[in-house]
Amino acid sequence: MLDTDVRIEGLTQGYGRRQVLFDITCTFERGITALLGLNGAGKTTLIRSLVGDLRPRSGSIRLGEAQMRDQWERSQLAAIGYLPQDPRLPGHMRVRDALAYAQWLKCDDGGRERRHECLDSVGLADRADSKVRDLSGGMKRRLSLACALVAHPKLLLLDEPTVGLDAEQRSGLRTLIKSAAEDCAVVFSTHELAEVDSFDPRIVVLDAGRIAMTGSADEIRSLAPVETPLQMRLEQGFLTLISGR
Ligand code: ADP
Repeated sequence: MLDTDVRIEGLTQGYGRRQVLFDITCTFERGITALLGLNGAGKTTLIRSLVGDLRPRSGSIRLGEAQMRDQWERSQLAAIGYLPQDPRLPGHMRVRDALAYAQWLKCDDGGRERRHECLDSVGLADRADSKVRDLSGGMKRRLSLACALVAHPKLLLLDEPTVGLDAEQRSGLRTLIKSAAEDCAVVFSTHELAEVDSFDPRIVVLDAGRIAMTGSADEIRSLAPVETPLQMRLEQGFLTLISGR
């Protein structure tokens, strides 16, 4: 098992009396995995469980050889980069300082060079001296991604990473995620099939809190009715999969 591999076994999760994830067993390996599901399927809940934000009700989560107890140990926390759906950034800080702070929180000693590399890769090198609160929504999202990447994570968890980005920014983000995935496990959640196709990732389909399928986009396409036009096959295959529950 690589130290970037995440293994989940028999995970159940919920809020109050409501159970949201049911007996989830899967492995996320180095490279890109898409967590695909309709709104409410449990994607965010699964990602929050992986971060250690929600304590597993039952089952286990391992990162490499380490098993999560109530929470990750500091060394695993330092190895996880996380882009939540609504990232909180310190608005009063300058962009360069917000990134340095994120790096410090992860106990990373990569220094100024790494920060510059990250800002450059998200297209914010020329905004390093701006106050965070003066950035546009898309820029804040890209800065949050730089914060998630700055400490060379082994596991990068991205909750709906392209929401709020325009076409050019989406394309830049894709390049960034692909390059990050060369030496870490990237898991991103989405309900957009076009996103899945643009990465050619491994796909875990989550449906009403259960894993409906693990496979490739072509395997999902093969589930579509035979008469389905090629460009509709992913969507129809996905709908066939989740309507069969
Ligand atoms: P997704 O990310 O796939 O849209 P979520 O994990 O956000 O799904 O939500 C799964 C289910 O859990 C939904 O029915 C949602 O209403 C419920 N849920 C999510 N967060 C909470 C919360 N903090 N408290 C109570 N229920 C929640």
